[in-house]
Amino acid sequence: MKNRSNMLVTKEFKFSAAHFLTQYHGQCEYLHGHNYRLQVTIQGPKFKNGMVVDFGILKKVVKEKVIDKLDHKNLNDFLKNPSAENIAVWIWGKLKDFGNLLKQEQSDPNVPEDLKKIINNDSSTIKKEVNSEGIKLYEIKLWETDENCIIYRG
Ligand SMILES: [Zn+2]
Repeated sequence: MKNRSNMLVTKEFKFSAAHFLTQYHGQCEYLHGHNYRLQVTIQGPKFKNGMVVDFGILKKVVKEKVIDKLDHKNLNDFLKNPSAENIAVWIWGKLKDFGNLLKQEQSDPNVPEDLKKIINNDSSTIKKEVNSEGIKLYEIKLWETDENCIIYRG
């Protein structure tokens, strides 16, 4: 029998930040900025409500855990050497426990009512799936420029 299919769900975000590289000799050792593009991919089964993860909740989690912390910041304030590779690893660390972050959202009173309704309608399924194979972070794709990107899968 075929297992329930695993699906990948990706959402894209943008943020602007400054950095300089400390292990590099050339232009990038001086403070400068980038308009970063971040693609977060979640893997999981499709639940009875027809979704792997609600895009609205995915957006809320990534915004709170990652974007709000990076946007319009100097990345050197909290990363020793903020290369795109190291930023991607930092982002992975913030989101790697995605299944649990999602569970927290289920009890978060700030979740909009319409989203809460969707979750509660199918909460037994969601909880069961999160506890077993569940939903997990699959990939971080960080674009430093239009041409250059890092892909990290933990
Ligand atoms: Zn740079």
